[in-house]
Amino acid sequence: MCLLCGAPLTAADRGLCASCWSTVIPVPDTRCERCGQETASGEPLCLGCATKPPPQASTTVWGEYDGTLRRAVLALKHHGRDELAKPLGHRLGLRLGSRPWMAGVNVIVPVPSHPLRRLQRGWVAAELLARVVARDLGRPFQRALRRHGFGLQVARTRVQRHHLAAGSFRVARRVTGQTILLIDDVLTTGATLRRAAGALLAGGAAAVHCGAVCAAVDPRRLV
Ligand SMILES: [Zn+2]
Ligand SMILES: [Zn+2]
Repeated sequence: MCLLCGAPLTAADRGLCASCWSTVIPVPDTRCERCGQETASGEPLCLGCATKPPPQASTTVWGEYDGTLRRAVLALKHHGRDELAKPLGHRLGLRLGSRPWMAGVNVIVPVPSHPLRRLQRGWVAAELLARVVARDLGRPFQRALRRHGFGLQVARTRVQRHHLAAGSFRVARRVTGQTILLIDDVLTTGATLRRAAGALLAGGAAAVHCGAVCAAVDPRRLV
């Protein structure tokens, strides 16, 4: 049954029926090349990146965290609908595969979840998505980052989240000289990707590119 409208699924459908999937469309590929946020029209970089760029070399997002896509991502993240990782990961992988820097990527790394969430869920959204992207793009998948802290990100306010996440990543595998593609599910303020990419570079990575299935229109709208 379709997760959203309850229509019966054919063998080819995953999670949603074809009609619901047809409402899931990519954002125009015109966001800030460096951080993935929206830019003033036509500019390759946003104002923030023009003055203080994040550690990652680039950020790619596929869709907007809204409507059907938002509901699909929430179902994957919080309701155990792991079958959604494939269709969502394929979409992100397609856009990432067209990037000129992709040829230089050695390894695909997920943004790790908080340990408590891992305990509850086993698999987490960013990992499932990163595995799909890794398979589609023919690169190895590696859990190269660990995350500290036992807070549940979803239950906290944005301010608390910022404090909680400060300095919370460490490199768990050798990444020296690697060009890494870092995958997350939702890009909100970008603080998480900045910290995760920063940790990989501090651990010796040559470069970090980021990819997220979708970006929040306005981070304040997140629940
Ligand atoms: Zn449907
Ligand atoms: Zn930017």
